[in-house]
Amino acid sequence: MTYRILVTDGVDAEGVSVLAAEPALAVDEVPTLPSDELLARIGAYDALVVRSATRVSSGLLRAAPRLAVVGRAGVGVDNIDVGLATELGIAVINAPAGNTTAVAELFFGSVLSLLRHIPRADQSLREGRWEKSAFLGSELKGRALGVVGLGRIGGEIAVRAHAFGMTVVGYDPYVGDPRLHALRVRRAATLDDLLGEATVLTIHTPPTDETQAMIGAREIARLAPGSIVVNLSRGGMVDELALADGLRRGHLAGAVLDVYSKEPLSADHPLLSMPNVVLTPHIGASTVEAQRSVSVEVCQAVRDALLSGELSRSINAASVVNGSWADVRPALLLTRQLAAVGRALLASRGARAIDRIDVSSGDALAGAGEALLASAALGVLAPVVANERLNLISARALSTARGIALSVTAGEALGEAGIESAAENRGATYGVAVRLTSGRHEMTVAGVAHPEAAPRITRIGAFHVDVQPRETLLILTNRDVPGVIGHVGMALGSAGVNIAEYHQARLAQGGEALAAVAVDGSVEDSLRHGLLALPDVLSATVIPLPIE
Ligand code: NAD
Repeated sequence: MTYRILVTDGVDAEGVSVLAAEPALAVDEVPTLPSDELLARIGAYDALVVRSATRVSSGLLRAAPRLAVVGRAGVGVDNIDVGLATELGIAVINAPAGNTTAVAELFFGSVLSLLRHIPRADQSLREGRWEKSAFLGSELKGRALGVVGLGRIGGEIAVRAHAFGMTVVGYDPYVGDPRLHALRVRRAATLDDLLGEATVLTIHTPPTDETQAMIGAREIARLAPGSIVVNLSRGGMVDELALADGLRRGHLAGAVLDVYSKEPLSADHPLLSMPNVVLTPHIGASTVEAQRSVSVEVCQAVRDALLSGELSRSINAASVVNGSWADVRPALLLTRQLAAVGRALLASRGARAIDRIDVSSGDALAGAGEALLASAALGVLAPVVANERLNLISARALSTARGIALSVTAGEALGEAGIESAAENRGATYGVAVRLTSGRHEMTVAGVAHPEAAPRITRIGAFHVDVQPRETLLILTNRDVPGVIGHVGMALGSAGVNIAEYHQARLAQGGEALAAVAVDGSVEDSLRHGLLALPDVLSATVIPLPIE
């Protein structure tokens, strides 16, 4: 199968070559297209890679039945309707890390420009003057840098600030002490504390309700006279009118802005007429290296999403998966398999409409609850819903829309859910139990998905089993009498079906027994009928399983 990818907006060639190198990917590169032209073409594509010029609107997404991935070579996804993409099961992937250095370096470039009056000195010289004494600057050394938000960019700035001989104090309630220690940043307990210490204040937070207008007149007043304020993050976090006022009154010595509450900046913006500011037109990420790096970063992620269903770098799947993707991935697949087994067994009893999905997991998977739930929903829905968009991202929304109640618990619910056999205890913290309810019927299927061992199904209803899921799981119930295993083995063998594992379980001697038979390949319906005709076999359910 070949996936078609449309790349636009002049995404850097190095990333495009990552896509073009794959035989299974066909890449069309176009300049930024008018929206009607893009709308007419998008139906043919499985993925779209943009920068910021193309608007990936709801209309465009709805006109793209094949679209599985939208890649944005950059950080901001304001030009993409992420809400609708999530609803439609389209992964949205950005490149959050690629421009960190570019912004950190712009910080020092623009702050030094401000302190040494570089733009004005340059201008004056070009205008024929030699005003050596007019540009008396000041130094970074010895100043206290106050960083709000110690994520990627705030952290890189803190690291470099030490080289300039600055002291660094930080305010970020969402990062732990080890990171602050590693960055040699002293923690301010509150934003007010930070404002009381910093003489260079810089903001590196994402735009949230909390950070909106975070620095206003009150905060500026708390800064020591002669301080400077820097915003290279997003417009709106610093109140620009309050900033202009602080500068006009001489309370602030200067300001540096790369982002504004309204972009582009209007010609009558009060900051434009002030001498002691350095203003740049949102160029934080605009370096050759950053453009290359975000392009490669996003194109690799788009390639992996298309070719191996790897959604760990998708911003809307990332909200589903919380934790290390590599650790969680086997558990997600197992959960989907457990749900598929439960669904098939309920269906074999005539219980087809699932009302509830309850997932319980061990402690090691506590952070992945939502993703486990999505996987269980996927296992339940995949065999019955004709929706190309069904995936980890859309599964929960689709389940809810179909009236299926979803719940997930971690840790203590495990024993109750049935993780208690010897095999299960080996990796109990990676145990998962999926309980499906359909009217008065209930079915719990459980297993263990330790990241370094093959996943095992360890419980089916009341029966303890221990099998590694393969392409098909055959579940037989039979009377607990001698000879059944031999008959079943013969029947499968003569039909050319290779048994990978056969686990027979019973509740009491002479009662009903259950066999979980993992087989490579598929099991035809005629063979199932053949098995049902064997003496003492009571039921035979053939369950094709997802294996990746
Ligand atoms: P990040 O997610 O790595 O870091 C953000 C940090 O802010 C996190 O550590 C988080 O804990 C912290 N934070 C969140 N809410 C906070 C609050 N209320 N108070 C204090 N701290 C809070 O993000 P990043 O990659 O460092 O980017 C930072 C900002 O820079 C973002 O807004 C991003 O959009 C912007 N950015 C701008 C440009 C540009 O061209 N100027 C380029 C890249 C990124």
